[in-house]
Amino acid sequence: MTTKTTLILGAGFGGIITANALRRQLPSDHRIVLIDKLPTFHFGATKPWVMLGHKTVAEISHSREALGRRGIEFLQAEIRQIDLAKGEVETEHGSRRGDYLVIALGADYDMSAIPGLAAAHEFYTLEGAARLREALREFSRGDLIVLVPRAPFKCPPAPYEAAMLMDHAFKERDVRDNVRIALYTVEGAPMATAGAEMGSFIREQLAARGISFHPTKKTSSVDGEQRSVKFDDGSEAHFDLLVTVPPHVAPKAVREAGLTNQSGWIPADPKTLKVARESAFRAVYAIGDVSVVPLPGRHKPDVPLVLPKAGTVADGQGQIVASQIAGEVLGRPAETFAGVGTCYIETGGKQAVRGEGQFYALPHPVMRTTPPDGAQYEGKLTWMSDWLRANL
Ligand SMILES: Cc1cc2nc3c(=O)[nH]c(=O)nc-3n(C[C@H](O)[C@H](O)[C@H](O)COP(=O)(O)OP(=O)(O)OC[C@H]3O[C@@H](n4cnc5c(N)ncnc54)[C@H](O)[C@@H]3O)c2cc1C
Repeated sequence: MTTKTTLILGAGFGGIITANALRRQLPSDHRIVLIDKLPTFHFGATKPWVMLGHKTVAEISHSREALGRRGIEFLQAEIRQIDLAKGEVETEHGSRRGDYLVIALGADYDMSAIPGLAAAHEFYTLEGAARLREALREFSRGDLIVLVPRAPFKCPPAPYEAAMLMDHAFKERDVRDNVRIALYTVEGAPMATAGAEMGSFIREQLAARGISFHPTKKTSSVDGEQRSVKFDDGSEAHFDLLVTVPPHVAPKAVREAGLTNQSGWIPADPKTLKVARESAFRAVYAIGDVSVVPLPGRHKPDVPLVLPKAGTVADGQGQIVASQIAGEVLGRPAETFAGVGTCYIETGGKQAVRGEGQFYALPHPVMRTTPPDGAQYEGKLTWMSDWLRANL
């Protein structure tokens, strides 16, 4: 067997898992090069903790240094170009060639996609979550809107979770009676990709907390001076504090490489995560947030139903891609992705609910839940600490 190289672009959830799983399966002469522009990793699931002031950015940031000790070459560099024809990736520190390419670059945000949206707060970036923490501290009276202007977006329960966590924080400060919380979303139902059971569960949780829910509201613009959100159906909503999920886009290097389809994301095979493109690489894979995998048998105009963008999905896909590459290198059968993923939704006061999703299930996706409790919250903490111990 001659020495081969796997290039993994993006050391987030999916990239780190792929690198570790591949390292376990292939001998050390197979080079694994993992590239990311940032030195640290953080769980998206910990951003709401920053938003609430429960953790600092430093406390939720984890160094990627240990990857080197596991036999993975970690290169901290911005990826500028993916050249499929040459089988090369151009970074700020020069180009890298590879035999296998795994694209796990996640999603970028584009607040300019909607006029005026830049006036809103967000908790999807670490900086945004830290800024929102200050705004929430000051906020004790008026209309708070949680806005989901576009789909798909990372972690389908995140805006609902954020609304419930803010509700809890206002109650703790004894100001909840002075604050109206409303959630406006482009989605037809909460977590549409997870099936009807999850949608009903979230609606009930919102109603129990007095959080009003407004589905099928596509944002057309935001007027920061008038403090008003305008929707495509001609209606408007007033806010004193606006918290939005930023519109998501694929990273520039991915778009410029012509890897995306009309959805704006890289179409990947639902089972193997392979990208059907001619290239000088032996195989190209796309996993996690940067990929799009339509759910079998389900289509809705305007809001396409696709595999959710979630860390646990990227995790499961990364393990499959490692098995696919190892299978090809070692000439053995490989595993395929079954469309499963879990998610934890915090409901406030150290309570959470764990959803078990089967996204390829027919006639519709299934996500089972049990009522929120402290044990499921503890389960979330254990999931994160186990993940860190195994992978970083
Ligand atoms: C508020 C919030 C809460 C969430 N809660 C949960 C949860 O409870 N459970 C769950 O499963 N998921 C959750 N998620 C979603 C989860 O974080 C993402 O779905 C997951 O991180 C996707 O993994 P990924 O590998 O595709 O991308 P990422 O983890 O985003 O990794 C992409 C990596 O690529 C790097 N990168 C991007 N562009 C470049 C470039 N040009 N050059 C070099 N490097 C680059 C980035 O620095 C990043 O490290 C949450 C997300 C948010 C925002």
